Amino acid sequence: MGEFKVLEGIDPKLAEAMKSEVRRQRNTLELIPSENFASINVIRALGSVLTNKYSEGYPGKRYYGGNEFVDVVENLAIDRAKALFKVPHVNVQPYSGSPANFAVYAALCKPGDTIMGLNLQDGGHLTHGFSASVTGKFFNSVAYHVKPDGYIDIDEVRRLAVENKPKLIWIGATAYARALPFAEFAKIADEVGAYLVSDIAHIAGLVAGGAHESPVDYVHIVTTTTHKTLRGPRGAMIMVTEKGLKKNPDLGNLIDKTVFPGLQGGPHDNTTAALALALLEASQPQFKEYAKQIVKNAKALGEELSKRGLTLVTGGTDNHLILIDLSKRYGPGTGAFAQDALDLAGIVCNKNTVPAEPASPFYPSGIRIGTPAITSRGMKEEEMGLIAEYIFEAVELIEGHEMPTDKEKRAQAIQTFKEEMKNSPKIKEIAAKVLELCGRFPLYPEIEL
Ligand SMILES: *Cc1c(COP(=O)(O)O)cnc(C)c1O
Repeated sequence: MGEFKVLEGIDPKLAEAMKSEVRRQRNTLELIPSENFASINVIRALGSVLTNKYSEGYPGKRYYGGNEFVDVVENLAIDRAKALFKVPHVNVQPYSGSPANFAVYAALCKPGDTIMGLNLQDGGHLTHGFSASVTGKFFNSVAYHVKPDGYIDIDEVRRLAVENKPKLIWIGATAYARALPFAEFAKIADEVGAYLVSDIAHIAGLVAGGAHESPVDYVHIVTTTTHKTLRGPRGAMIMVTEKGLKKNPDLGNLIDKTVFPGLQGGPHDNTTAALALALLEASQPQFKEYAKQIVKNAKALGEELSKRGLTLVTGGTDNHLILIDLSKRYGPGTGAFAQDALDLAGIVCNKNTVPAEPASPFYPSGIRIGTPAITSRGMKEEEMGLIAEYIFEAVELIEGHEMPTDKEKRAQAIQTFKEEMKNSPKIKEIAAKVLELCGRFPLYPEIEL
């Protein structure tokens, strides 16, 4: 792929920014659990002439001509998703996870209907009814929570469901380190007659690879992004299960109608092509190994960090991510410091709230780290030992830095800390080790800069 040579001549500013991003991805440890590296072939499919086509409608039923090949592409994606996730109906057109979830609301609920989802600060997603999201404004959103031990409070879910009789219950999360309890949710949803929808955006690759239980037997609808553990292009799918069709035989049709023409216009056919390829990749035996290794790596990383005295929410992990509660060792609100120290050392992760957050969402007490991307690079348990040590060394630099209780003073505290870290010999030393480790696991060698 020599595309930058050409682009440099045409648009040097853009070429430089894009090349810098390639270097950044190569030279840092990507620990954001919602990110991953799609294969070079998926990226090539994304950059194809399929981006030129309009194909409003569905295979065989389009509003524009010239769709005979796009139909083949979309059917490949649909058939592969059906086989991989064992579902009778799939829509591959949602532009991304948030619009996919909104399509589910639009298909099943009227404005003002009651819905339930995991509270954002407890690990839920914005689109599961958070107040700042339209899903929290258009619907009567009732949030359930995690217990102080970090596990979903099933008793609360049951109590709230019986009290509020929701139309729709979400089971899914963005910051939850444990297996999702599908069977227990199914019992509750069936008891109150609610639609149960699982949003497996984070864990889709684990489900596909058999490293996390599948929700398909328990829920009516499954939504997922395709760019996280699944390693596909940025996009989403909505899947209807047999159980869903039993509850409402028209559910597949209803979802399709809601995505188009209800919510979207033309699908992004280049994305659909890349998704078809990613689904083929995810159905190979190596992908099962990959999914298992993601979990093995997360467990290994978690154990190594615990050994060094860091506190993990729920004490460990069943999946691809771990949540570290820094408040116990360094004080409330120190997640923001940790994110900056790690970033300067070339370790990319995000600050995150912890159960019963003692500080605030913008200055939270935890960090969230995940293993999908580093596992895509080929790293295994041995490297997790090294990474845990680098994380710990960087995080220890927080010691002695308190997050001010006065809100006005927080931004300044972060600024001061960052300046100090920029000049820290220790950070430079960790960054050098990170760079060395990244160099041993080449990323996109096909791309020439
Ligand atoms: C990432 C994510 C989404 C949203 O996906 P976007 O593509 O960013 O819109 C929805 N739900 C969950 C659980 C997610 O993790």
